[in-house]
Amino acid sequence: MTSQFPHLLEPLDLGFTTLKNRVIMGSMHTGLEDRAKNTARLAEFYAERARGGVGLIVTGGYAPNRTGWLLPFGAKLTNRMEAHRHRTVTKAVHDAGGKIALQILHAGRYSYQPLSVSASSIKAPINPFRPRRLTSRGVRWQIRNFVRCARLAQTAGYDGVEIMGGEGYFINQFLCDRTNKRTDEWGGTPDRRRRMAVEIVRRTRAAVGPNFVILFRLSMADLVEGGQSWDEIVALAQEVESAGATIINTDIGWHESRVPTIVTSVPRAAFVDVTEKLAEHVSIPVVASNRINMPEVAEEILTRGEVQLISMARPMLADPMWVRKAEAGAPDEINTCIACNQACLDHAFVNKHVSCLLNPRAGRETELTLLPTRRKKNLAVVGAGPAGLSAALNLAQRGHAVTLFEARDDIGGQFGIAQKIPGKEEFAETIRYFRRQLDLAGVDVRLGTRVEAAELIASGYDEVVIATGVVPRVPDIPGIDHPKVLSYAEVVRDGRPVGKSVAVIGAGGIGVDVSEFLTHEHSPTLDVKEWKQEWGVTDPESAPGALTTPQPSPSPREVYLLQRKPGRIGAGLAKTTGWVHRAALKAKGVHEISGVNYERIDDAGLHVSFGEKRERPRTLAVDTVVICAGQESVRDLADELTVAGMTTHVIGGADVAAELDAKRAIEQGTRLAAGI
Ligand code: FAD
Ligand code: NAP
Ligand code: SF4
Repeated sequence: MTSQFPHLLEPLDLGFTTLKNRVIMGSMHTGLEDRAKNTARLAEFYAERARGGVGLIVTGGYAPNRTGWLLPFGAKLTNRMEAHRHRTVTKAVHDAGGKIALQILHAGRYSYQPLSVSASSIKAPINPFRPRRLTSRGVRWQIRNFVRCARLAQTAGYDGVEIMGGEGYFINQFLCDRTNKRTDEWGGTPDRRRRMAVEIVRRTRAAVGPNFVILFRLSMADLVEGGQSWDEIVALAQEVESAGATIINTDIGWHESRVPTIVTSVPRAAFVDVTEKLAEHVSIPVVASNRINMPEVAEEILTRGEVQLISMARPMLADPMWVRKAEAGAPDEINTCIACNQACLDHAFVNKHVSCLLNPRAGRETELTLLPTRRKKNLAVVGAGPAGLSAALNLAQRGHAVTLFEARDDIGGQFGIAQKIPGKEEFAETIRYFRRQLDLAGVDVRLGTRVEAAELIASGYDEVVIATGVVPRVPDIPGIDHPKVLSYAEVVRDGRPVGKSVAVIGAGGIGVDVSEFLTHEHSPTLDVKEWKQEWGVTDPESAPGALTTPQPSPSPREVYLLQRKPGRIGAGLAKTTGWVHRAALKAKGVHEISGVNYERIDDAGLHVSFGEKRERPRTLAVDTVVICAGQESVRDLADELTVAGMTTHVIGGADVAAELDAKRAIEQGTRLAAGI
């Protein structure tokens, strides 16, 4: 068979079993693991990915005992009753032609509960609970629990287990001097710090026999002070290989690291060099991971021949048919994960079930179904932003006749502006996906067409979906019509010239993004080398933990970012990405000013004061003022059509502008389409 991706789609013979291709769906905690009542949903979630052709699925993490829980009463696998329940999952995956391994995850000092344990009693900076230091006997008990968990997984029908040895969790805590201050047989020297990890693998192999996959997730760059040296990492890899591991999977960075490792501004495949470097030292298959989201990238890595497998987690949320589309030579049909974290990791961190901004069906496969319609309707969708795009596509895929009107010359709406922000280049993939899929689904797309109510009424559509979105709010500030004032859309989308000093009014998600835009010299693609310099990441061989001093490139402008409310700028940004934005703005020297009153704008600049009494007047002598003060709904069409008696549905920003994001817009569009 000739294929566009021959290496990616080549089977991998592990001796006792064969993986049908080189794609591993990496472990993701969906939240469905935590409660028995969600087992059927979880089974269908995995089965859909198995049908999509992935070679091996790794489940979310299961603790080997209560001390290892991620959260109180979180997922664990400790007895036969729990193992029996897992049969629903393994059967569903096997029936769908897939293979699945259970991840054993002991959170150690990251366990968010008072029972937590670790090598030493050192609190993690991101967890209020101080772990209890294990006794030597306690360590042996933990090892037995890992082995018991693996045996139970085997009886539950899993094809293997993944032992989580990275991300700053329990095993990783034993491996590093940073968190292991013991002087007994489990610490004090690098080989004694490694001993627990190696014992777990050795005893697991002895317990499960030779015909069971054992993946070891190995931290190849801890990205924290006091992380492992390169020699220690290589020794660990070689020892877990000798102890019986089948595959070594890559892990990069601890949760408490100051370096982002998977958000969208991290360049694609940014850490593959480390995996390739390690692969030279072992003879078992090694897996590359982190920010690999398209078949071309995966194929290029595999073609170089150092690593044998690619792990992708979030891309399988965004598109369960990822592998099938690669097999069909149609990568342009893939709904590419944009690494936004908005519906996956951000949900996980607030105890919500994981889904996907681009694919709201993820994790809800049994609930949100999009079946072929039994009554074809003639539908108009107005507005090709995320809300209109998702509605139009899903409606057409269900069999309706759909006409999509868009006033501008391209689809995307506000999301099209987002793709121009440095570090958000991936957002262009979403526009590409919709463009291709609208074409395949036969949607009649009318670009450059600002449709009027009269035309919609005259055309006799059965129903109209109003997805006309939002426009930037124009705040009521004296001098707002001064020539130095621009909207964010004029700056980012239209490329209007901006001076050397700029005040940004409004510090929500868009104000922060615009500040990033203004503080970067723009390049069309993300450069891995430059990015590593900016964040202070080096070759793990030159520094333990792979950290060095960050060297951010200087900002081409002086930027002031302002908000009226008191308190920290960016406090409302998302948990897993907000800190990255705040660190980036700090590195670029953005002046952050809270609690301002906007007095006026004139030739001298932006005049502000502080407090209710409008004290401490200050003039920011800026060349340009960029307005990022939120948005307002565009919904005049809806009102006119309703008066005319047409069946209309209002979604996305046209419905509610406050706290609007693409996640809500796409989910609303999809749910509406499921119901028409
Ligand atoms: P819009 O995107 O506003 O789309 C409405 C569309 O309707 C427009 O294309 C408009 O031209 C068209 N239209 C209006 N009237 C008519 C008419 N009469 N006839 C034909 N067409 C019409 N969201 C996130 O979730 N994550 C992010 O990281 C993120 N980053 C962002 C960064 C920036 C810089 C910006 C500007 C936005 C960002 N957003 C982000 C917000 C996100 O883009 C919006 O929430 C989303 O686009 C709203 O979708 P919508 O479809 O409701 O409306
Ligand atoms: P936003 O988050 O609501 O922020 C609007 C900002 O404008 C606030 O800082 C607000 O702060 C200020 N403001 C509001 N009314 C004002 C007025 N009349 N005069 C002056 N200032 C005013 O909206 P946004 O930044 O426009 O973002 C829109 C949506 O896009 C957000 O909801 C977000 O979800 C999404 N988005 C997400 C990301 C992401 O990375 N996830 C990135 C970009 C955008 P004060 O009232 O304190 O001044
Ligand atoms: Fe990827 Fe964002 Fe979807 Fe998460 S929510 S899977 S990061 S596209």
